[in-house]
Amino acid sequence: MDSWKAITSLTYSQIKELQNRRLHSFINTHVYPFSPYYRNLFDDKKIDPKSIRTREDLKRIPFINKSDLLDKDNPQKFKDFILQPDKEKIKSHWPKTRLLGFALKSCAQGRHLEDDLAREYRPIFMTFTTGTTNAPVPFMYSRRDLDNLNLFGARMVGLFGIKSDERIMNLFPFAPHLAFWQTFFGAIEAGVFSLSTGGGKVMGTEGNLTALMRIKPSTILGVPSYIYHLVRFAQTKGHDLSFLKNIVLGAARVTPAYKQKLSAMLRAQGGKDICIFGTYGFTEARCAWAECPTENHLSSGYHLYPDKEIFEIIDPDTGEIRDDGADGELVYTNLDARASVVLRYRTGDFVKGGISHGPCPYCGRVTLRLSSDITRLSDQKDIHLSKVKGTLVNLSHFTEVLSGISQINEWQLEIRKHNNDPFEVDEIIVYVTAQEGVDQLALSKQIIDKLTGATEVAPNQIEFIPLAEMVKRLELETANKEKRILDTRPKG
Ligand SMILES: [Zn+2]
Repeated sequence: MDSWKAITSLTYSQIKELQNRRLHSFINTHVYPFSPYYRNLFDDKKIDPKSIRTREDLKRIPFINKSDLLDKDNPQKFKDFILQPDKEKIKSHWPKTRLLGFALKSCAQGRHLEDDLAREYRPIFMTFTTGTTNAPVPFMYSRRDLDNLNLFGARMVGLFGIKSDERIMNLFPFAPHLAFWQTFFGAIEAGVFSLSTGGGKVMGTEGNLTALMRIKPSTILGVPSYIYHLVRFAQTKGHDLSFLKNIVLGAARVTPAYKQKLSAMLRAQGGKDICIFGTYGFTEARCAWAECPTENHLSSGYHLYPDKEIFEIIDPDTGEIRDDGADGELVYTNLDARASVVLRYRTGDFVKGGISHGPCPYCGRVTLRLSSDITRLSDQKDIHLSKVKGTLVNLSHFTEVLSGISQINEWQLEIRKHNNDPFEVDEIIVYVTAQEGVDQLALSKQIIDKLTGATEVAPNQIEFIPLAEMVKRLELETANKEKRILDTRPKG
């Protein structure tokens, strides 16, 4: 039974009390006894697990980040984060009453204690991260973790207001990534009909559109660029999409400009009052959070699960803890996980507007809400801050400008070296697929002016190309993530 209803009516101080209680019990019952990494860390830093009683005590536990999960010399490092109970450890760490209680519960339900322990802890499923710069880090789920994954999915289905007689189409790329499986399991748990097509790579856009028009789902879910591509494709075929009620986007940031552009396109295809939802999730949480219904230029923030996790907000430079409502880097702690477990994991995500509490102004639920203005700090360091033409440029400014121009249907930006010579100057080429009937000269001028204004570097060339060529360039139908900004400069 889900306690979501009860959780979403707790006061802020009740939420904190619940989190304190769960944190203490989670660390003492599961983490310290069974996690090789945390056992070492606690012993090494002389942290008594019994002394971790409140959220405030968390600050005594050092942060971890992606590099702690990865070790070039030890590719099995991720295993240290998996809970590894055995009979001896259970006997020495669990009070007799707990083990007895566990055994009695198994017995009462006609099962063996060993089977129940395996269900609780044994890894049987995994997803992994898809960093562009890092090696993948696998995260494991036990059967119990899968129950939680189902639960989170069902909570989101409830947030979106999907009724049991409606249909869902899952267009996330079929891969061992969180988004696909969160959607797949969530729909099953909620008892709603769903079709998971695997996205463009598996069924092709024609195939997805045929399925869409046959099933007429109320809700479609996928990555923003592919959903946009599919809706536009439906438009060229003259399809009526008035059956759609919800569009749920994941695995990439959704800007208000994107929401407005997509909803304008949907209106032209008969769509009325379609809600466009953003979601937030990451592999290490094995979980996603969603917005509740609002008008498309607003965001309710992501409705968190305070019974399952603790988020802290810190200064990304000093690591100092900030108030819940402040801007800062998000740090994540499991409260109810088995298999892979992390405490104080630095997400590398920067949130503006922090976490708010009190009743949600849109749905009335009293849970914690995380601002949806989240950018990846790591992206800014690794990819998004790049020297172009000798100027340090935040590449996300290119995205903001080009996605915000309504006459542009699709775009790609290429940074290359003149003549592909590493010692030559940088060149910026903007490929554009414009809306029909647009004055290309005027649009080129607008692009150059806006880009130069936002980034101080001017593009060398604006090239107008047909949509089919653009789809290929962006790899919209073949890659899990579109190639929006292409840096083809040879590493000289
Ligand atoms: Zn809400």
